[in-house]
Amino acid sequence: MEKGKTVLDVFNSRANPDTPYDVIVCGGGPAGLGAALAAGMNGAKTVIFEGRNQFGGSATGSNWMEWNALFKDSDGRRRGGVNDLIVDEIQKWGPDAWVKGDRGRVIRDHYALHIHPEYAKKAFFDLFKRYKIDYQLYSPVVGVEKEGDRVTGVVIGAKEGNVTYKGNVIIDASGDGDVAHYAGCEMATEGEETTHWRAFVTVSFLVCNVDTAKFWKWLNMADLMVPSFRPYRERILEPGIKLGYNLPTWIGFDEATVPGIVSINSGTSQEISVDPSKSYSLTYMEQAGTDQAIDFVRWVRTERNHPGMEECYLLRVGPYALARDTRRLIGEYVFTDKDVMNGSQFDDTIATKYGSSDPVGSVRKATTIRQGAPYPYRCYLPKKIDGLLVAGRCGSATLLGHFGGKSIGNMICIGQGAGVAAALCSKNGVQPRKLDYHLIQQKLDEMGVSL
Ligand SMILES: Cc1cc2nc3c(=O)[nH]c(=O)nc-3n(C[C@H](O)[C@H](O)[C@H](O)COP(=O)(O)OP(=O)(O)OC[C@H]3O[C@@H](n4cnc5c(N)ncnc54)[C@H](O)[C@@H]3O)c2cc1C
Repeated sequence: MEKGKTVLDVFNSRANPDTPYDVIVCGGGPAGLGAALAAGMNGAKTVIFEGRNQFGGSATGSNWMEWNALFKDSDGRRRGGVNDLIVDEIQKWGPDAWVKGDRGRVIRDHYALHIHPEYAKKAFFDLFKRYKIDYQLYSPVVGVEKEGDRVTGVVIGAKEGNVTYKGNVIIDASGDGDVAHYAGCEMATEGEETTHWRAFVTVSFLVCNVDTAKFWKWLNMADLMVPSFRPYRERILEPGIKLGYNLPTWIGFDEATVPGIVSINSGTSQEISVDPSKSYSLTYMEQAGTDQAIDFVRWVRTERNHPGMEECYLLRVGPYALARDTRRLIGEYVFTDKDVMNGSQFDDTIATKYGSSDPVGSVRKATTIRQGAPYPYRCYLPKKIDGLLVAGRCGSATLLGHFGGKSIGNMICIGQGAGVAAALCSKNGVQPRKLDYHLIQQKLDEMGVSL
């Protein structure tokens, strides 16, 4: 029989080890997506590698969790650039794809959207094709190529074995800081600096057959959610644990675009200190997440304590254990909680932060964000290593500096800064630390981003 077409004949956007890339983006979460799209839009030959089976990082990995800070405020003022491109690409699919963040919730998150993860994934594939960006899933970076102190390529642990790709500028948007770690950059690895408190790791899950109208009405009435998760934990979860159920420390409920479904994001790691840079930690979390999801359903069905959920079923756990904080770069500048609270001004600002902050640790310490807080270019720059920019949650910040505005919209915008910088470096033949940041600011301005 004649051999038919193969994937090689039809998949023109695949990563190609023979292509000398201008920009290689490692990690396909919000920061990586922002970076790849910004680099591609600015004419750089770009490839994005994602270690897992889907683009979106924690944004799609947590099902319908609200994507915060996609807008500057509750009036829906736009952020410009790649963020708006992604929002528009998702919103064009209508109510199957997204629902505004203020429906059914007490939380005042109407600057947010709850997004169907499959529509988000579709939007990313379509945008990659539109901007001629190569992309590959199932492609964890497992090492780097270096010439002296300069990173010149990455080693991908592909199904076919290790494959090396060369690029002028590499962007580490792995969230976990894997690339910077392999390159020998100095990293913060111990959670919060003074207490070493580690952020929760979460395995999200979905319940179906919920009477959602009844449930959201009850939840609104109960006033159980944000600004503090603590009341919910004390009023509901501790009694649950006493009754013999294995439950997360706290639970957040997110509205889905599919009838009868509620998306659940929780403190799966309970009070256990989990280092997400270890495969054994993530394996333990998968197991804990499955146990807790099954027990949550048993709990709400037996105790009938969540009106609307009396007849619910567990639909799915996962898709994977989500880390809020793993390794962070200790770069040319370390962004702190004071910077985000005061809105410190920097000459080299190339991104901004909006929205709110997560409480940290047992003291529930939280920062209040100065809206539009500037984020400087030096936070992307390793101290000694060239050829590399680090963006997103593994960028150079203290834990509180990162947690002040770690929302998805902010991470897209921070990634965008890296993508623009990398494209300019490649075009001008300069190393990231030598790039004139005014050029990045000028490009962002042309892209409709106000800093
Ligand atoms: C459970 C949870 C709940 C949250 N709740 C909210 C919320 O309600 N609203 C909100 O706006 N924000 C929320 N956040 C914060 C937000 O999701 C993150 O700050 C944001 O996703 C960080 O983006 P990132 O791209 O830096 O990292 P990530 O989203 O972690 O993406 C990193 C990507 O890199 C990939 N990767 C990792 N290692 C490698 C490697 N070696 N090679 C290739 N790829 C690799 C990962 O698979 C992943 O896709 C939450 C985060 C978590 C974890």
